[in-house]
Amino acid sequence: MSTNCDSLSEICARCQLGGGCCHGAHPPLTQRRIDILIHSGVTSGEIEFAGYHRLKVKDDGFCVLFDQGGCTVHSAKPETCVAGPFTFDVQGDVLEIYLKKESICPLVAYLKEDIAAYQAQLDLAVKNILALVRDLSPQELEVILRIEEPETVKVAEISLEKG
Ligand code: SF4
Repeated sequence: MSTNCDSLSEICARCQLGGGCCHGAHPPLTQRRIDILIHSGVTSGEIEFAGYHRLKVKDDGFCVLFDQGGCTVHSAKPETCVAGPFTFDVQGDVLEIYLKKESICPLVAYLKEDIAAYQAQLDLAVKNILALVRDLSPQELEVILRIEEPETVKVAEISLEKG
């Protein structure tokens, strides 16, 4: 039986943009994610610090872990990669979830036509983004939040207050 994740991966593989999400991606990495990636065979030379730890890109602009049209660490990929096409911002104690526009991501049209698939991916995105936001230092998060995310629309707000 095909899972939601399998369906999304199949659509990504057919993306006309040819792995556009992985071009210039620089997904942020917590120490926990770095440990998982190193355990999966990623080298420390493929990671850099630019106000936050992130994956490097190759000379062609694609993520160092992108090869032959796909991610080479699919089962261990960073939280923001798992969350796509959802992305995020933080305003005070509120986590804002954004969805990319259909014009830049073919997954969006698929998700909008299948409410169960949409909700499953949104739940997965929120879980991963919450883990990321809670593991990053305030300084790292501040740098990450300065990155512009054009062509997105806000779809959810979640309180980050404890209790
Ligand atoms: S880790 Fe994988 S999914 Fe994420 S940007 Fe790199 S190649 Fe793409």
